[in-house]
Amino acid sequence: MTDQTNRRDLFKGAAVVGAAAVAGSAIAQTGPAAAPADPRTKFTNQPFPEQKQKWPALQREMKPVPDCGEASYRGSGKLAGRKALVTGGDSGIGRAAAIAFAREGADVAINYFPTEEPDAQDVARLLRAEGRKVVLIPGDLTDEKFCRDLIARANRELGGIDILVNNAAYQQSKQSIAEITAEQFDRTMKTNVYAMFHLSKAAIPLMKPGAAIINTGSVNSVAPEEELLDYASTKGAILIFTKALAKQLGKQGIRVNMVAPGPIWTPLQVAGGQLPGKMHEFGQDTPMGRAGQPAELAGLYVALADSGNSFTTGSAFGANGGTGAI
Ligand code: NAD
Ligand code: MG
Repeated sequence: MTDQTNRRDLFKGAAVVGAAAVAGSAIAQTGPAAAPADPRTKFTNQPFPEQKQKWPALQREMKPVPDCGEASYRGSGKLAGRKALVTGGDSGIGRAAAIAFAREGADVAINYFPTEEPDAQDVARLLRAEGRKVVLIPGDLTDEKFCRDLIARANRELGGIDILVNNAAYQQSKQSIAEITAEQFDRTMKTNVYAMFHLSKAAIPLMKPGAAIINTGSVNSVAPEEELLDYASTKGAILIFTKALAKQLGKQGIRVNMVAPGPIWTPLQVAGGQLPGKMHEFGQDTPMGRAGQPAELAGLYVALADSGNSFTTGSAFGANGGTGAI
């Protein structure tokens, strides 16, 4: 199967849904709306081929290429005039959130590791062609000073900041604690926890009532995988940070929530996120019988940014195919 075929297969479900939605609205005056898509087959349920890329991995080189809603997400002005910064917005779940935010009317800044420039350019090209403002700010989030500079720059270039998505993460699977080096442990903590702290701390003074912080946790926040000891520990910290910060910021009218994905097909998984030889098992054991695609999480990020959900704060929302975690 060629890349093109893989990509076509992946988009097929979304394209059909899109067509059904259009047809549904057209027949709405004369008959019943089309049936909803079957979630078991809306995206590929085939095992993924074994593959490995050098960290941090490029989405455009994955087989199949993940679906971040590029061809399917349609906005309806829910975030018109909003200004959002998404870390890890070049690929995977962050890209899906960035695309959805832009199509809902927000101006978007995305941060990514400098070697991910090709993926970031793909997002920028797509959204700028649609007339949206996209600011690209590469840099290393393990650097505290860069975290502060990132917030200052996003604020300056967007003319404010009222949505912060702390989504970047480092994940390396290791069978045993004995194989986790101090360097790996440190990098996982710095990327997943410290950066969230530095970015939130710098952004909050710039935020007005109505702003939203959205952190990306995981099913590992409450149900750790044994081979993700360090990563799962950071995801547990992200859940508690979300709940505690929401208590502090309620008084300022700023909401803080967390999205908890289950197995989602993204670059993180092919850059050391899974143990060698395990790629074909990825997501196959969910009750839905498949891994998720980033596009399936976009709606959660939009909902948590949307001021319509004004009483929702300090909460976690899952997308995991029914694993029962969050
Ligand atoms: P991804 O690889 O597309 O995104 C992770 C991003 O983190 C990268 O694109 C990169 O830009 C960024 N990043 C990592 N280290 C960085 C650094 N030092 N400086 C700057 N940027 C850095 O993979 P994803 O799966 O979409 O990950 C997004 C979030 O989803 C993460 O928080 C991850 O833990 C979470 N998550 C993913 C899954 C899954 O199965 N894919 C499951 C649960 C949670
Ligand atoms: Mg990436």
